[in-house]
Amino acid sequence: MISFADAYNLVLEHSQNYGTETVSLKKAIGRVLADDIFADRDFPPYDRATKDGIAINYNAIENGRIAFNIKAIVAAGQRTYKFLEEDHCVEIMTGAVVPFEADTVVMYEDITIEHGIANLNKKTQRGQNIHYKGSDKKKGELVINKDTKITAAEIGVLASVGKSVVKVKKLPGIAVISTGNELVEVEDHPLPHQIRKSNSYALFAALDEEHIVPLLLHLSDDKDMIRQKLSYVIQEMDVVLLSGGVSKGKFDFIPKILDELGVEKVFHGVLQRPGKPFWFGVHRNTKTVIFSFPGNPISTFANYHIYFKHWLQKSLGLPIPNVVVFLEEGISIKGSMTRFLGVKIRWVNGLLKAKLVKDNGSGDLTSLSRSDGFIKLTPRDVPYTIDEKVTFISTRTLF
Ligand code: AMP
Ligand code: MG
Repeated sequence: MISFADAYNLVLEHSQNYGTETVSLKKAIGRVLADDIFADRDFPPYDRATKDGIAINYNAIENGRIAFNIKAIVAAGQRTYKFLEEDHCVEIMTGAVVPFEADTVVMYEDITIEHGIANLNKKTQRGQNIHYKGSDKKKGELVINKDTKITAAEIGVLASVGKSVVKVKKLPGIAVISTGNELVEVEDHPLPHQIRKSNSYALFAALDEEHIVPLLLHLSDDKDMIRQKLSYVIQEMDVVLLSGGVSKGKFDFIPKILDELGVEKVFHGVLQRPGKPFWFGVHRNTKTVIFSFPGNPISTFANYHIYFKHWLQKSLGLPIPNVVVFLEEGISIKGSMTRFLGVKIRWVNGLLKAKLVKDNGSGDLTSLSRSDGFIKLTPRDVPYTIDEKVTFISTRTLF
């Protein structure tokens, strides 16, 4: 059995590149940009009025003028007024193009208009209330780096530079497979010896947050059926997330069948709790990556976030988060197992504090909905102390 650190590094070493694809701008949210994005024109593209008022040439003020003949009204979306003379002004609206000859905008609040003449009521500065052409970005300048996860903010920027379609990283095709004869459908009324499938739904939902729609399958603990279906799935999919059937039980057939099907085992079993019987491998020919999680719902859920999520982030060229939290209580962790303990998080003076969630051992599925994630604790002789900083793996969006 290998250490958690080795297992984690091995999983990340097997990250893959699934290439790129083009999606429409409206579908690009949550995807990862595959190209750098450049300004297709100056931003702003013209000298833009930032207030409603009048546009003038400041030289006139320097020459003692405070009253200006209004020559025109310039609205946003309209060509601007040309050949503005020094004793003249135009009324100008926010977003409109400032006339070439003008260099200053005075807002309506600071002027009085009478009989077609605007009088200045306040001291004015040259250049005020104008957002100058190219002052944000010049045409051709980088506006978004590739490998950025696209949020609503990037959608706005992409739209402004004319990207109606966007080149993004392709997401892997994923199968989520539950195994076990005891499992029945959610809508079923389980017999006393049966339980409802929950892992596939939890994984489906977690992948949904990554914009991945997986293929869902269930396998009973039957060697031939497992062999036949897994063989198909390995050919068709980039990644397989299995739950159950990887421990030492008489009906835990998965590792042997994966081996027979040509999947090269990278490791089986990790010195960690929960999630110890985790099996990880890659198919020799298809390079399909197999995450075979132990069936215990906490183990599947924890290992998905600890391993798969970071593997996916690396595969898509995203940085892997390193979040730390401060313990609200002391904990002693001895032995050889790296522990992942469910915690509730709260902010205290700008720091994230973690309080252990009481559960009934690692099979207590309901504790997942009371926790925000797991803290990672490496075994050591001295206890972890209150306010000690530890690594946190989030299982929900915290802010
Ligand atoms: P296994 O890893 O197959 O030995 O399963 C370990 C425990 O997790 C058993 O109690 C199973 O009934 C349970 N289990 C396995 N798969 C699932 C699943 N998809 N949903 C809920 N519980 C499961
Ligand atoms: Mg099982």
